[in-house]
Amino acid sequence: MKHKKVFILGMARSGFEAAKLLAKDHEVLITDMKEQDEKQVAILNELNVKVVITKEPLELLDNSYDLLIKNPGIKKDHPILIKARELHIPIINELELAYHYLPQKVFLIGVTGSNGKTTTTTLIYEFLQAANKKVHLGGNIGIPFSQFVLDIKEGDYVVLEVSDHQLCDVKDFKTNVSVLTNIYPVHLDFHDSFEQYKEMKKRIFAHHTKKDLAIINKDNIEAFTLTKDISSTKEYFSRIEKEECYLENDAIYYQKEKIIDTKDILLKGNHNYENIMAAILAVKACGISNEAIKTVLTTFKGVEHRIEFVRNIKGVSYYNDSKATNCESTKIALKSFQNPTLLILGGLDRGHSFEDLTDAMTNVKYVVCYGETKNRIKEYCDSLNISCDIFENLQQATLACFKKSQANDVVLLSPACASWDQYDSFETRGEEFKKIVNSLGE
Ligand code: ADP
Repeated sequence: MKHKKVFILGMARSGFEAAKLLAKDHEVLITDMKEQDEKQVAILNELNVKVVITKEPLELLDNSYDLLIKNPGIKKDHPILIKARELHIPIINELELAYHYLPQKVFLIGVTGSNGKTTTTTLIYEFLQAANKKVHLGGNIGIPFSQFVLDIKEGDYVVLEVSDHQLCDVKDFKTNVSVLTNIYPVHLDFHDSFEQYKEMKKRIFAHHTKKDLAIINKDNIEAFTLTKDISSTKEYFSRIEKEECYLENDAIYYQKEKIIDTKDILLKGNHNYENIMAAILAVKACGISNEAIKTVLTTFKGVEHRIEFVRNIKGVSYYNDSKATNCESTKIALKSFQNPTLLILGGLDRGHSFEDLTDAMTNVKYVVCYGETKNRIKEYCDSLNISCDIFENLQQATLACFKKSQANDVVLLSPACASWDQYDSFETRGEEFKKIVNSLGE
C-alpha cells in the first residue's frame, strides 16, 4: 500500500497490531472508547500513531482519510461507519489488511464455522508442525494476523481461525484451503438474520477457483446446502457417509485407508472426531503423512480449557472444560464420555435453566456445585435424583470429587456458567482447576 491516512476504530489486540503494522509508512489514528493499557499506548505514540480515547469519535473522521479499519466486534450501523460510507472511505478489518502484506507463494488455510474453529485450526497447525513444515498460527484464535504477517516467508504455511465477524469486512482475502466445520444459528444478535450470518460464513470461499479446496461437514445440512454453488473443489467429511474422510467402526478413514482407531485418540467426543476429520483433509492437501497425523492424535491433549485432559490419578481422568459457559457446551462434553462422571457445575447466574442438560446426564453419578448458581443446580439435581453437594469454591468442589471418585471415573469441570462471579475469565478458572488437580496426591 502506498502512503495513506488510516483511521482505526477500536483498539483491542487487533487494532493495536494493525496500527503497528501500518505505522512505518502511513499516517495512523486509532480511537477507542475505553482507557487502554499504558504500555501499548506508549508503544504506539513512539511509532507516531495518534491514540485518541473518546466516547465521541465522530468528529475525528473526515474525508482526509483513505481507509478505515474497524474492529470485527463493531456493528455495521455504528455512526462512524455510516459516516465513513457517506464519505466513500473504504472499510476493511485487520485480517484483510494483513492479507495485503502476505508474500507470494504462501499456502493459506482458513477455518471457520459456528463451533470447533479453534480446535480444528490448532490441529491443522499441530499436524503441519509434526511434519516439520514451517507454519504460522493465528487469526481469531487470539493472535492477530498483523502481528506475524511480516515474519512469513515464501513457501511457508499459514493457518488462520476466521470468525463470521471478521468475514464481514474482507474484500480480497483468499485462502488456498477453506474449512467450514458447521453452521448453527448463533451470533444472531450481531447479524440481521440467520441468512446474513450464513452469507458471511460463505465468504471463506470467496475468490476460490477449482484450484482451491473447500472442506465441508457433510452431516451439517446448513453447511452442505450453503456451499452447493461455490467454485472451489469440494471435499467432505462425515460421521455417517463414506466421504473423502469418514468415521466407521470407531476408526477414522481417509480415502478408504484407516488412519487411526478412535480409542487411540486423546481428544474425545464425536464433535472432536469431526474437527479431526476436517483437519486431516486440510493437511492431506499439503501432502502430510499418516504418521505425522497419528503422532499428534495420540499425544494432543486438546486445546486448553476445551475438554482438555489434565491428568489421571488412580484410574480417574480429570478434564478441564472451563470454556463451557452454557448448557449446550456442557452437554457436548458430557456426551463425549461413556464413563461414570463426576461433574463440577456453577458460576455466574444469568438466570438460565439447567434443564437443557437432562438428556446428557445419563452417566453423571455425582454433581458438585459452587458459585452464584449453586442453589439452583442443587434443586435441579434433586429433581433428577442425582447426588449433589454444594461448596463455596472450586477447590472444595474438586477435592470432593477426588474423594468420591473410583477407577474408570471421569471428573469433569464443565460448569455450564460464565466464570465472572469468581474469576476474571474462563481461562483463569480453568488454570486454577488444573493447579488444584495437579496438586492432588496420588
Ligand atoms: P470455536 O473456536 O468455534 O468456539 P472450539 O474449538 O474452541 O470452537 O470449541 C469450543 C466448544 O465448542 C467445545 O468445547 C465444544 O463444546 C464445542 N465444539 C467444538 N467442536 C465442535 C463441533 N465440531 N461441533 C459442535 N460443537 C463443537
